[in-house]
Amino acid sequence: MPSHDESRRGLDDGASAGTDGGTRDGTAGEIPDEAGGEMADRTDGEPPRTNRRGFLKSSAAAFGAAAVSAGSAAGDRGSRYGMERSPGDPETATGERGMVSTVHPRATEAGAEVLRAGGNAVDAAVAVQFALNVVQPHSSGIGGGGFMLVYSAAEDELYAIDNRERAPLGAEPDMFLGDDGEPIPFRERHTNGKAVGVPGTLRAADAALKRFGSMELADLIDPAIDLADGCRRVTVDEALAEAIAENVEAGELGETAREVFAPGGDPLEAGDPLVQPDLADTFRLIREEGIEPFYKGEIAEDIAETVRSAEGYLDEGGSMTVEDLARYNVEITLPEHATYEGAAEEITVRTMSLPSSGGLTIGQILRLLEPFDLADAGRRSVETYHRLIEAFRLAFADRGKYMGDDAFVDVPWQGLFDAEYLDGRRATIDPNRAAETPVEPGDPWSYQPGEPYRVSPYGAGAGENDRTVHNRGQTTHFTVADVEGNLVSWTTTIEQLFGSGIMVPGRGFMLNNELTDFDAVPGGPNEVQPEKRPLSSTSPTIVFRDGEPFLTVGSPGGPTIITTVTQVLLGVAEFGMPLDAAVAEPRLYADAESDVIYEETVPEGIRRALRARGHALSGEPMSLGSVQALEVTDDGYFGVGDFRRDSSVIGL
Ligand code: GLU
Repeated sequence: MPSHDESRRGLDDGASAGTDGGTRDGTAGEIPDEAGGEMADRTDGEPPRTNRRGFLKSSAAAFGAAAVSAGSAAGDRGSRYGMERSPGDPETATGERGMVSTVHPRATEAGAEVLRAGGNAVDAAVAVQFALNVVQPHSSGIGGGGFMLVYSAAEDELYAIDNRERAPLGAEPDMFLGDDGEPIPFRERHTNGKAVGVPGTLRAADAALKRFGSMELADLIDPAIDLADGCRRVTVDEALAEAIAENVEAGELGETAREVFAPGGDPLEAGDPLVQPDLADTFRLIREEGIEPFYKGEIAEDIAETVRSAEGYLDEGGSMTVEDLARYNVEITLPEHATYEGAAEEITVRTMSLPSSGGLTIGQILRLLEPFDLADAGRRSVETYHRLIEAFRLAFADRGKYMGDDAFVDVPWQGLFDAEYLDGRRATIDPNRAAETPVEPGDPWSYQPGEPYRVSPYGAGAGENDRTVHNRGQTTHFTVADVEGNLVSWTTTIEQLFGSGIMVPGRGFMLNNELTDFDAVPGGPNEVQPEKRPLSSTSPTIVFRDGEPFLTVGSPGGPTIITTVTQVLLGVAEFGMPLDAAVAEPRLYADAESDVIYEETVPEGIRRALRARGHALSGEPMSLGSVQALEVTDDGYFGVGDFRRDSSVIGL
């Protein structure tokens, strides 16, 4: 990686700090001076850091005592940043011996109980996932897939467990094209058996426990059984109620799912009891017999039959067979690696590699931005927002053209990070003017050593993108840490709200529509192929500082995951914000061709200034992502849960 000074060379961005920016109250101006002062304090004269693993080990002896109450540190940390907080403060907690941050209190409690009982972070994460399947059935579950990062303290190593869904053997590159050769509209193709990928979540839970866990799957599924059969009372929360209402109204819930979530035609509402006896029975079967029934036995048969006969807007179901399920396995790999030398922190960002575009795209954005000295311009300056948008557009252009499942297609992974290549891309950014959209991809292959072994005819289909408008996805991200210093950062999904809308009759879980993450038009690196994994944006992330684990971050939101995670990382590393303040910061999103989507908290002055530079902003503001994160501190852990969804954070 170039040194900070080297990478600055040749850059004359003409930036002037925050002159036409805005403040949180929407008036034109700069970030308050005191914020800059506070941020500088954080980096100057820092106390020497303790070795986290050593610290946590020494406190392990005390584990088993009553949980330390989850005190909120938000006030302190917010005032340290010196800015008022709006529109909500993230949930926060501190803990000396563990941390769980999820989007639902029952799921967080399930994880915390496991930690209290002496389980490790992977054990707790598995319990969280099963509980989430019950309490947030529209967002994730055993009918879906995802990506899980595990930091093993004992090995001082970070692993990625790739449990992305795969296309069945019978999938075909043109299966999302209509008779006229045009892509079937997204809204239609996602509620169909063809959209359903072979699920990976349960296999991941099993593999993670065998490799890293200390408890049995049977024990970890118990809390979810209690939640599903009503032994532990669960009510429908606002998020679920909204999802049910939306999907029922849009006609995107199949009959079986409607019987559960809109019995008698009446959508369940917030506060209604949520009882799912079929799901409880499925979990009991898994408790008794393990995951085999799901991948080879009676549940596999039901899944295959449901997928094949599913009636969505198309006439036919998908092609999935029991063989597809039996063949499914997860991969344990190493995550992507990118460094960022920020004004406040030097960080090493490790996040999901292909078939998630998250690692390469976040890495590219950070490297494009690194030489710009964004901290000088200020977080809420138009210079910063302008550069973020331009870097997002450049990176997304490459993403659309070059990325796909690297088991099927060669991707110029070194070219995409090549310093000279990125210098050239960065030099196309006009400091005062928005780029014309769509922004064109570059040519990273010219910077990639060797020749590709498997070249797909890039062009047709690459960047096919009618999904940007529809697909912000409704994944769940959560994070867990334990007393040993093990960390889990897991983004888990069934793709859209309620996935395909198809529930397996008698089994109580939803099937994903993940195969719509493939390009509908064949010919590009992300075309459908049998057993291929569709390109993802999910980015469970673990950040290192001075070789030690520092942060975990992740979010739902389809492609906006990439820009959300990047903005949180920049908040901490470039702008010196405490993690909760970085999560609270107003976000925006742009890809190679979309309008700029902005949150309502992006100051009006900034919006005006961006428009003046030629940026097309979307008509309405939109909430972007929902971050669950934690920081490894000198005293233990600081956990954060976004206010953009209900979050529940427990520190132990
Ligand atoms: N299908 C999306 C992806 O893998 C995840 C769903 C979401 O957007 O949150 O990128």
